[in-house]
Amino acid sequence: MKPHLRNLKTKWTLQDYPDSTAYEAGYLTSKNAGWRSVRPVIDAEKCTGCLQCYLHCPDGVIFKSGKVVAIDYDFCKGCGICGRICRLKAIKMEVESK
Ligand code: SF4
Ligand code: SF4
Repeated sequence: MKPHLRNLKTKWTLQDYPDSTAYEAGYLTSKNAGWRSVRPVIDAEKCTGCLQCYLHCPDGVIFKSGKVVAIDYDFCKGCGICGRICRLKAIKMEVESK
C-alpha cells in the first residue's frame, strides 16, 4: 500500500478497498486469457480475505467477493503469482482444461 494511503487510517478493512485493482480503472477491455496453461483456483474454506493476492496480481483481476476473493478468468494470465503470495495456500494452480 502506498504510504500516503497507509497514513490515512490505522486500521483497514476489506470494505475500504475497491472491488478490484483494475476494474475500477477500466483498463480491461477485451478478453485475453486464451494462452493460459494453468489457472488459479481459490479454496474459499482456507481464504481469510487478507487481500495479499488481490494486491499482488499484476493484472488486477482478483476482486473481492463477500469475505473472500474471486478471480476473473477472462483476464487472468495464469502467472501463478497469487498462488505464491498466499501464505495460507488457499490458491492452487490447476492445469487448464482445453
Ligand atoms: S492471499 Fe490467500 S488468504 Fe489472502 S485473500 Fe488471497 S487467497 Fe485469500
Ligand atoms: S494467476 Fe496471475 S494473473 Fe491470474 S489471478 Fe493470479 S496473479 Fe492474477
